Amino acid sequence: MTDRSTLVRQNLQAVQSRIADAAQRAGRAADEVRLVGVTKYVDADATALLANAGCSTLGESRPQQLWEKADSPELAGRSIEWHLIGHLQRNKVRQTLPHVALLHSIDSLRLLKAVQQAAAAIGQPARALLEVNCSGDAEKHGFAPDELDAVVGSLAEYPDVEIHGLMTMAAREGGADQARNNFALLRELRERVAPNAPDGVSLTELSMGMSGDFEEAIAEGATMVRVGSTLWEGLR
Ligand SMILES: *Cc1c(COP(=O)(O)O)cnc(C)c1O
Repeated sequence: MTDRSTLVRQNLQAVQSRIADAAQRAGRAADEVRLVGVTKYVDADATALLANAGCSTLGESRPQQLWEKADSPELAGRSIEWHLIGHLQRNKVRQTLPHVALLHSIDSLRLLKAVQQAAAAIGQPARALLEVNCSGDAEKHGFAPDELDAVVGSLAEYPDVEIHGLMTMAAREGGADQARNNFALLRELRERVAPNAPDGVSLTELSMGMSGDFEEAIAEGATMVRVGSTLWEGLR
């Protein structure tokens, strides 16, 4: 019988070594790829096991769960970087920003404006990525690829939002090949729109890849992979 903390530690090590192998196959250094451990499936107790095992960048997809975990007795006051990876409603921006080191999911101009306003009001710039709907799946959030040039060209209008790169999710259908196409598209979009960015803005981060497809994402240049299910396998 493996105890819970050993299990989580082993799962983390397995994911880290798959990341290192995928980076090596792509001719990249393992430390060019950051693991965001996605904790939306588990409680604060299990989340603390992952942090104890050495994964200190954690992602939640729902703002309210992120606030609750970040403030929970198990996790408050630790050197954890919280990332919001899911959709953020405009009425939750103000409460979310102080907890979050990186917002992966700016998916509309309305949200970008709301983040600008809140960051200016709080007096602390927000760090964020622009989410792009590379798959075209109707249920997914994000800018359409052909909207991105204009959005990036307008970033100087949002001086309190630091945009560091792009994020996407692969198509629900089509398996590894389709995922890899979606990730290649995000990388190509980055190359295309980066020259339009205002001075001082460099779109270096590509947040792409989850449990089922993070190796494909690393092959296409992911700098952050968001892995959940695989980290919690066998936990009950
Ligand atoms: C849940 C989630 C993940 C992690 O997915 P797994 O398949 O469990 O690894 C990554 N990104 C986003 C946006 C998510 O909502």
